[in-house]
Order: sequence, then C-alpha cells, then structure tokens
Amino acid sequence: MTNRLFLRNLFHTTLAITALFQLSFGQSKPAASGAILQGLKKLNVVGTVLYVAAHPDDENTQLLTYLANERLLRTGYLALTRGDGGQNLIGSEQGEYIGVIRTQELLAARRIDGPDQFFSRANDFGFSKSTDEAVRMWGQEQILGDVVWMIRKYRPDVIITRFPPDSRAGHGHHSASAYLAEEAFKIANDPTKYPEQLKWVKPWQPKRIFWNVFIPGAFMSNKKPDEPGVISVETGLYNPLLGKSYGEIAAESRSQHKSQGFGVPASRGVKIDYLLLKGGEPAPKDPFDGVDLSWKRVPGSAKVQQLINQAITNFKSDKPSASVPVLVQTYKALAQLDTANLYVKAKRQEVEKLIQQCIGLWYETNPADFAASPGEQIRVASSIVNRSDYPVKLLGIQMPAVKKDTAMNLALKPNDVVAFNSAVTIPANQPISQPYWLEKPVNKGLFQVSNQALIGSPENPPAFTTAYSFEIDGQRFVFTQPWSYKSTDPVDGEIYRPFIIQPAVMANLAEKVYVFADDTPKNVDVVLRAGRTSVSGTLKLEVPSGWRVEPEQIPFNLKEKSQEVRVSFRIYPSTTYGEGRLRAVVSTTSPEKTGYASSLRVVAYKHIPTQTLFPAAEAKLVKLDIKVKSKNIGYIAGAGDEVPAALQQIGCVVTPLTARDMNSNLSVYDAIVVGVRAYNTEDWLRNAQPKLLDYVEKGGTMIVQYVTPGGSFIQNGLKTSQLGPYPFVVGRERVTEEDATMTFINPQHPLLNTPNKITEQDFNGWVQERGIYFAQEWDKAYEPIFSAHDVNEASKDGSLIYCKYGKGHYMYTGLVFFRELPAGVPGAYRLFANMISVGK
Ligand SMILES: [Zn+2]
Repeated sequence: MTNRLFLRNLFHTTLAITALFQLSFGQSKPAASGAILQGLKKLNVVGTVLYVAAHPDDENTQLLTYLANERLLRTGYLALTRGDGGQNLIGSEQGEYIGVIRTQELLAARRIDGPDQFFSRANDFGFSKSTDEAVRMWGQEQILGDVVWMIRKYRPDVIITRFPPDSRAGHGHHSASAYLAEEAFKIANDPTKYPEQLKWVKPWQPKRIFWNVFIPGAFMSNKKPDEPGVISVETGLYNPLLGKSYGEIAAESRSQHKSQGFGVPASRGVKIDYLLLKGGEPAPKDPFDGVDLSWKRVPGSAKVQQLINQAITNFKSDKPSASVPVLVQTYKALAQLDTANLYVKAKRQEVEKLIQQCIGLWYETNPADFAASPGEQIRVASSIVNRSDYPVKLLGIQMPAVKKDTAMNLALKPNDVVAFNSAVTIPANQPISQPYWLEKPVNKGLFQVSNQALIGSPENPPAFTTAYSFEIDGQRFVFTQPWSYKSTDPVDGEIYRPFIIQPAVMANLAEKVYVFADDTPKNVDVVLRAGRTSVSGTLKLEVPSGWRVEPEQIPFNLKEKSQEVRVSFRIYPSTTYGEGRLRAVVSTTSPEKTGYASSLRVVAYKHIPTQTLFPAAEAKLVKLDIKVKSKNIGYIAGAGDEVPAALQQIGCVVTPLTARDMNSNLSVYDAIVVGVRAYNTEDWLRNAQPKLLDYVEKGGTMIVQYVTPGGSFIQNGLKTSQLGPYPFVVGRERVTEEDATMTFINPQHPLLNTPNKITEQDFNGWVQERGIYFAQEWDKAYEPIFSAHDVNEASKDGSLIYCKYGKGHYMYTGLVFFRELPAGVPGAYRLFANMISVGK
C-alpha cells in the first residue's frame, strides 16, 4: 500500500498526470444485440440532418438523440466554436485549453447519443452582444464559408438551428449561428459562391431550415410560438432496443459537459419540441415531409433494399453472427452501386461495422508507451479475437505510418486471442502531435487552418493506425483503427489514452508570467524532460534586450525516456518598466539540432481521453512600476483561479483559507481575497460569513471576486444571501470589450491613488473583457469606482464597489482579475495592489 502511494506521488510530481479514461474511444466497439438490430434498421434510412449552434452545450441533446436513434438519420451537430472563451468549473485551464477540453466533452457526448460532431474555425473570443460583432470578429467571408463548406460536405436534407437570428438568442454567437446557417442555406447550392471549395465538394441544396424554438433564459423557453409553419416533434420516446428513453440518453450525454457543470437529471415521459420553418419548402406535419428517406433515392438499389429487409426480419438476438452472410451480400451489392454516392459510402461503413459487431470481432494495436519521439523505436502489440464460431480468416496487418506490412492466412479459432508483437520505428520526420487548429498562432477571431479538408473535423485524423485485413464469406474486409495506449490503474481499471508523438526533449518553465515588482532578480526554474532515451545538449533562455540571464547556458544529459531534471536560471530585470518575452532554446547533440523548445501540457480528466499538447516553452516578463503595502493575504479558493500565484509574484505571502481556518485569528491577514465563484461552490462560506464580516469590521480588508447570481437554469445559487456588510445585488451586466473606456467616478478615491496612481494607461492591454457579473444595485454605503460600457450601451457602474465597514474595508468586483493577473497585465496588478493595500 505504502509503496503504491509513494509511486503515485512520484508519478504526480513528474508532470504526467494520471490519465483516466475508460470508454473505448477509437476502439472497435462491441455491441449488444439490441444495438445491432438498431444498426440494421438504420441501414434502411437514407437521410441526413444537421443541427447548428454556437458552443459546446448549446445543442438540444434530446432532439439530437431522437433524430439519431428514433429517426435513425445521419445526424450531425455543427458547433461554430469549441467554447474556448468559457469558464472552467473543473480546473484552471483557460482559452484554447478549455477549447480542447470542450471538444473532447462533445465527442464524449456524441459517443453516448450517436450523432457526428463538427466545428468551424471560429474561436470563442468571449461573450458577444450582437450578431454583427460576432461575425465581424470571425470574419463574415470566412465563417460563412465554413458553414457553406459543412453543408456541402455533409449534405443535410434538413438544417435545424438552436437559436433565433436576433437578440432573443441572448449572445451574439448564438444569433450569429442562426444567421449564418440561414445565409449558408441560401447559397450552398450556388457554384459561384466559394468556388474554391468545389475542388473537394459539390454544391448542395437542403430541402428546408428550421429554428428549434428556444429563447435562452425566457420563461417557458421552448413554448409553442404563435406563428404559422410550426410543427411539433415528440422526443420523449422510449427505445426498447437500447433500454432507455431519449431523455435518459440525453441526460447521460449532456452530463459530459463537466467543465461547464452541466450535469442534468434524466427526463422521462412526453417531451415536445417545436420546429419553426425559416426557409425552404413548407413541412405540414413532419420535419422530413417530402424528403425521400428510403433507398429509392439511390439509383439501382432495389437489391440492397431487399437484402437489408431480409437481415432485419431474420435477425437472431441470441446469434447475431447468423446475419453475417446477408450482410456480406449487402456489402457486395453496395459495391455494384455508384461508389461516389454519399449514402453508398456511408452505408458501406455501417455494414462493415455491423459485420464486425455480429461476429464480436475485436482488434487493437497498443504501443508500449503513450508517446514516442520521431526516429524512436518502440514496441507495439496487436491482438485480434473472433468471439463467435463464424469462420474468419486474418489475411494481414498493415501499419502504413511505420511501413509495416505483414501478410498471413490465418483461420481465427473461436475466442482464441491471436497476438503479434513488433518493434517499429517512428519516421524521423514525423510531425509532433498538435491539434490542427492550434498549429499556427491563435488569432482572436478565427483559428488558422491551412488544410481546407480538415475544416469541420473535431480533431486530427490519427497519424498511427493499423489496417486489419479479414476474409469473411469469401469477401476481403479491411478494418482500420488508430493505435492507442492501454494501461491499468489500480483504482480505475483499464484506461485508454491516445498515442502521440512528442519532441525529443521538452522544457517546462515554472510560470508563464514572471512579474518583477522591483529590481530583485528571480529564479526561473525549468524542468527538462526526455521524450526518448539518451538525449543530451544545452538549454539557454533568450531574454529581451536590457534583461540579463545567468548562466548563459546549462548542459543536460538525460539517459532514460521520461527522465526529468530541474535546472535554474537567474533573471535580472530591465531597469525600465515594460514587458517582453522569455524563450527557451534547446540544442541537442544527436541529432544535432537547435531551436525554440516546446513545453509539455497534459490535460487529464476522467471523462475525456487525456490530451497532450506541446505549446512553445516561453513566458512573459513584466517589469512593474508597483507598490504593495499589504503582504499577508488569506485566499479563499472557489472554482479555481490563478490569482494566488500572481499575488506571490508581487511579493505577497498567500495563505489558502478553508472552513477550519475560520476559527483561527483572521486579523493576522492584511487582506482576505475570495476566489472566483467561491460563494457559488463552497457550502461552508454560508456559516463563515459572520466571521468574515467581523474580520472586516475590526479593521480587515476583504475583496470578493465575481459570483454568478444563480437562479438561471445553468448556475448554482449563492450560498449566502448577504455577500457584504450592506446589501447589494449581483446581476448579469458585463463589459465584454476589453478596451472599453473606464471612467473614474471619483478620481480622488484612495483606490485610484494609493499606493499606485491609477491612470487610463492601466487599462491598456487587458485581455478578453473588462468584467462580468457586475453589482447591479447596492446600498448607499457602497461607492462605485468605475463607470464603463460596451459600444452603444448605457453606462454600468458596478464593476468595483467599495465600502468602509467598522474599521475595515470591503469590495466586490466583477473585473476579471482572474484573467488579467495570470496574463501579466501591468495595470491589473497595480489596481489590485491598491485594493489589497487600501487599509494600510
Ligand atoms: Zn452558447
């Protein structure tokens, strides 16, 4: 026991976080007989529907579940963005890393409810108040082009939007998603529009487009609208083949949105959704009225149709392999049809999967490690097992990326596992794994993707796959599957993790921002990690002119793969105030190579496959003109933020405070800062509130960062009805333009003058937004400090409110210090320093 604990601790300290993922992503999926019969019935449905919205979680999961599993349609969800701009309820990732998490959460949801998942290139740049702003930020031409591309590629008969194309949608991204879908619906069939796409796809005209009536935040948000052209769909049905209702499946899939805290209960019973026609031919009764959803739309398919009916009629739930002969015949009959036809292609894949499921055929290839470096030799294990008595021959195994091709002629005995081990060499020029939309520097509006064919894909096509050739009923089948690393966790059991290619050596800087509040030098620790065995060379830090680093370079020699060594440099700040960039440069000896280093970033949560990223090994350097009078800070953490580390950078000693500390003497703290959404997430604060306010009354300084007001369908309520010493109400007001003018309501206020004189300049360089969840009404004891607003809006004064209480000071702020401090924004540090110092 002790030993294991020790090993686990050791493991955690070495950067790699335990990867916990139990569902089989990318694995050949076995299926119970009910699901196989469901798949056979789906072969008979020849139609496609595309659902369009803006973010991960926008989709109506239950409607998607119904379309994919009751109507058995080829169903897709196009989320314009990956949700990069949202908040993270389960960890400290921000920006594109949240986008990576949300992408995987959507894929996890789709593995449960069935549809395909797509994304455009749009970056979720944060809350947006209008369609115009959203479309301008993304670029009208490009983003509309992406939606047109998806329509031409997926060829839906019907498009369904989640939102109305106007302000009722509640978010500029939402209204824009509907506006773009409606515009794309009009032009996707016009070959003069986006003609460059026609190299890959053909024009396509969907039959009609609906709005899946829903007004976010409204009472009875999906109530039947009083307009002509509305039809209703009953999505609450129970599927006996799956043993669940669509409301139950939808709840499981929606609860994958864990980073947004979207666990939901299963719904049972009747549930009606309304669809309002927004374009195309009217549909009097059903969304697919007038669309032929049968094989009749594929010329010459009468034989295929007849074979599928035969397969359904004769299906034996206790012996699915009895369906193999008719499925093989179906496969052969499909090969006689126009193989360029969308449905011929799609149904061939479905038939392949059904054959595999009917036989219970299992195959996988597992490398000995989750990562390898270019040029590295690794061992891979392939195993194949036929779990029925149906005769199957293994004809060969091909691993195209490592040029391995083994032909054989092996009859697979029932339930007899056949295993092959081989040593393979990763090509020396193999690119390092990186999500395709993050390969180039991230723009605020649109991700840069050079390969048009990748646009729309949720993630990269797997670089390493194995193609297994089988002979079944005299027909050759080639089933391809990505490699994945497999391990066993003593608690969580078997875990799969995507196989990735990593650099020969990685350099992780201890911080992403180094803030210098004076001329004192700082240590910059770097953890070097070997991506393969025997890697040696030197590490340097490149700093801007005026800055100095010691020593000039540090040699390293890492013998073992994954071995780590911590080295330390000393950085002397520039004498002038300003910002610059520090970059790690690595030179390796064999092969001889010098270049900017990559770091290792692991995003590991139990509900998604572990994601491994290699962002540039660099940090921001900031020399600040700042005075801080408070040093001893107590910090009450909420949903997770990086403010404590930022405060340490400017010389504060930060002590985390929890429920048990409330009985200690709080007066030792110069200020107590409450982390973002702590009053939403921490039950104990309810009872601690009198103690905290007593601390303020006796002379303490307390700062509460934003909370969400609760009461909406997505957010937790507050744990206390009185956040401050006097009443105030938190609302949903925000200023989303990060360069919005900040007017000083009372320029003489101490918060704006001591110890740092705050000026307009201090609001330069803010990222993403000014603030969220402002105070909306407050007792007259509070003074508002700033007035600000987005373009064409009324002023809002609740971004920072302050009051004296007894001998102490209390502040509530919606200003997004949790974003600005970790981003190294000088003015945010200076203002926050004034806030914690106000009692001194
Ligand atoms: Zn949304």
